[in-house]
Amino acid sequence: MTATVHVLPNTPATRHDWRLAEVLALFAQPFNDLLFQAQSVHRAYFDANRVQVSTLLSIKTGACPEDCKYCPQSGHYNTGLEREKLMQVQQVIEAAKRAKDIGSTRFCMGAAWKHPSGKDFPYVLEMVKGVKALGMETCMTLGKLSRSQSEALATAGLDYYNHNLDTSPEFYGNIITTRTYSERLQTLAYVRDAGMKICCGGILGMGESTDDRAKLLMQLANLPQHPESVPINMLVKVQGTPLENAEEVDPFDFIRMLAVARIMLPKSHVRLSAGREQMNEQMQALAFFAGANSIFYGEKLLTTDNPQAEKDLALFARLGIKPEEREEHADEVHQGAIEQALLAQQNERLFYNAAA
Ligand code: SF4
Repeated sequence: MTATVHVLPNTPATRHDWRLAEVLALFAQPFNDLLFQAQSVHRAYFDANRVQVSTLLSIKTGACPEDCKYCPQSGHYNTGLEREKLMQVQQVIEAAKRAKDIGSTRFCMGAAWKHPSGKDFPYVLEMVKGVKALGMETCMTLGKLSRSQSEALATAGLDYYNHNLDTSPEFYGNIITTRTYSERLQTLAYVRDAGMKICCGGILGMGESTDDRAKLLMQLANLPQHPESVPINMLVKVQGTPLENAEEVDPFDFIRMLAVARIMLPKSHVRLSAGREQMNEQMQALAFFAGANSIFYGEKLLTTDNPQAEKDLALFARLGIKPEEREEHADEVHQGAIEQALLAQQNERLFYNAAA
């Protein structure tokens, strides 16, 4: 099955020279103008009715030595989170098989580490090889990497490495003190040099200003090559973390962030990421219209709840959205599993009673 992409006569160029005033002007547009612009850019590069689906598994949970103020996995805060050691390679591969069976095309593995240790790293490489052998795209988030670790992961078959910048360089010190912004940029450079794709984004709702949001997007868009995947997270306020009482983000401001990300990073997948559970279906639909075209699906989003796969498929069916095929080596059997799941949902809809 081939996707229809509506290419505009003037396909917007991919830029790497954004200035703050221009980005703030995008944010300041009337909401409908911004959404129209974002949707136009979106249609120039993507099928507007396809959304990429990934599944995320926490392969090592809690007791992280970093002090990210939003994170229940940090060992600095008492959130009651159950700590788990690094999972066994076979368990991870079994989880990836289940994710593939429910139609996920990418399997993301996350470990709460400052950086992978020499003791754990060989197991991590085995996980990459095992998941890759299932025909899925692989993604990992393991903290800071050295050049040689980046190269070893790429050789093992890792497609994407996730390492978020979280916020602007100026606001960053209010949120994390144990790892610098430049260390993050260095890891991203190693990942890129090793030939892997980058997944990098940020979080809204930590007390940052619109300027900080704009500056985060400038960091991402002004990199020599745009990250292929840009997760935009809404803070999930977890009791016991320093941000447990942070002020709510205006939902329209969150949609604005997605729309500006879509305009500045026209070829990247913009992921509606953590915090989706708190969003109603109307807000998710608006997020897709603003240019979000990737979600986490099924399993659990690291340690915070993620809407269940059935709910996601039901929303997709109501909106006429289909899961995106893998970029390379489209696997018909795999795609068939997704289509079957959607069909089952659509059949169920025949019995849906809107008045109930
Ligand atoms: S966000 Fe990552 S690095 Fe920061 S505390 Fe949580 S697990 Fe550790």
